[in-house]
Amino acid sequence: MGTDSCCRFNWKQVGDIALGRPHLGPMMHLAVYRLMQYTLREAICARYGHDEASDLLRSAGLRAGEEFCANVLNSDQDFNGFVAELQEKLREMGVGILRIEKADMEKLNFTLTVGEDLDCSGLPVVGHTVCEYDEGFIAGVLGRYTGKAFEAKEVDCWATGERTCRFSVTLATADGADGK
Ligand SMILES: [Zn+2]
Repeated sequence: MGTDSCCRFNWKQVGDIALGRPHLGPMMHLAVYRLMQYTLREAICARYGHDEASDLLRSAGLRAGEEFCANVLNSDQDFNGFVAELQEKLREMGVGILRIEKADMEKLNFTLTVGEDLDCSGLPVVGHTVCEYDEGFIAGVLGRYTGKAFEAKEVDCWATGERTCRFSVTLATADGADGK
């Protein structure tokens, strides 16, 4: 399995934004992010089909979540402290407003919501969830923090007519199939 070393993501690729963009700074219009995500999705879908596009977006989100956890968050704190920091960073960086609705710390099952989500808030209702990247991201953050593998499944989304994205998060099953 493999990613060629030339393509392997490295946090250095985020770059020194203060140096590189002295006039424009770290912000851009959200439309630009969505333009990139949904055209990339179209390109992957055209070549590999819808399911593979979803899967690849989820995989990319997973890597992003792992690296976000490793480079932005402090994993040397208890779960409540970690979640508080995650909430703060996601809000500060304009990713979304995270809330934990349910947490079973023994089974490591969670239900959480992300309001004003980057990927879907304000999209037309299409009747299916679209936040596969977020599914991966959430699994990646929790996976890196705990050292265990997670699966996150979006159960409500702006694109299904809800006003917040809701994710059911469970430990990944051994065979990697969707855990229920
Ligand atoms: Zn969503």
